[in-house]
Amino acid sequence: MASRLSEAAGRFTILARDGRARRGTLRTAHGEVQTPAFMPVGTHATVKACDPLEVAQAGAEMILANFYHLSLRPGVELIAEMGGLHQFMGWPGSILTDSGGYQLVSLGELVELDDSGVTFRSPYDGDTIQLTPQGVVEGQLKLGSDVIMVLDQPVPFGTSLQLAEIATRRTHLWAEQCRQTDTGSAMLFGIVQGGFELGLRAESAEVIAGLGFDGVALGGLVLGEPPQVRQPAIDACVQHLPEHLPRYVMGLGTDLDLLDSVARGVDLFDCVLPTRLARTGTVLTDRGRLSLRQARFRRDSRQLEPGCECPACSRFSRAYLRHLYVAGEILAHRLLSLHNLWHLSQLMAGARLAIEVGGLQEFIESRRRQLSEGAEV
Ligand SMILES: [Zn+2]
Repeated sequence: MASRLSEAAGRFTILARDGRARRGTLRTAHGEVQTPAFMPVGTHATVKACDPLEVAQAGAEMILANFYHLSLRPGVELIAEMGGLHQFMGWPGSILTDSGGYQLVSLGELVELDDSGVTFRSPYDGDTIQLTPQGVVEGQLKLGSDVIMVLDQPVPFGTSLQLAEIATRRTHLWAEQCRQTDTGSAMLFGIVQGGFELGLRAESAEVIAGLGFDGVALGGLVLGEPPQVRQPAIDACVQHLPEHLPRYVMGLGTDLDLLDSVARGVDLFDCVLPTRLARTGTVLTDRGRLSLRQARFRRDSRQLEPGCECPACSRFSRAYLRHLYVAGEILAHRLLSLHNLWHLSQLMAGARLAIEVGGLQEFIESRRRQLSEGAEV
């Protein structure tokens, strides 16, 4: 265990601190990830509408793909045959794969759960599929993932304490089973659960921290709870996690939520928000969201965000991008997605710099002020 701990510590280096926030570097088999970092989501081995090289140019160093979805289609064996996930999808950087625990919540009653794993019916062909904790880790290894997530059981906000306790105990049991597999150069992250009961959260963080993982995710958040419930839940976990491990909050993606969590000591984030919003014609700016569906942008010759160097802002006006969106042109999805990825990437770069100079709180306050001024200009 000791050698594994020192190995984990060697792969994540904290370069600077500001309050509880950390500025670090995570070294994977495919390069370095500067933290705090936002990871674009490529569930089906593609960040929707974006060329992987453009995603890298947007500043992303690690993306997220989903083992559960890829195991259904096209299949883990096929991806392994094609040289692994990096080669298959043409992504040069690091890849974190989620296990599919989150999908257990969204699939609801289509899933049967017990301590040995999960059984469900494939939505594609109706086949019965079983996921075991060990099988999920081995599957992600076959994909060639850089950061492997354990199988876990999140519960949505509003779940009874009794059910949250059952899910949390099962998550711990599965985590122990996942930990038995040697993942070689790939990192293995544990996932804290505990619902929204702070004592259970703290207990879960202690249990997961004691299993010798390379990093710890705070799972089961962004499942319908308000920020005032989420923030103490994050604190309850972080207080019980060791300093030397990277911490990852799954599914968080608004500017202020990201910055708030950075200040609480979280290092990694992922969310579908930037690309999903882009496909509805909504772009992120320092002063809030713009909906290009609005007629006021018809003759707007400005960039989406003044000073942004993304492929959309460097060449095109709001008027043209709105035209593309309204006309249903697929170029709109690509350009707006890239802009939103650049926006979050720049936000995280700003947070990293602020931590280095001890100015994170000022940075957050200035971003909060800009957002409160609104984008109606
Ligand atoms: Zn832009």
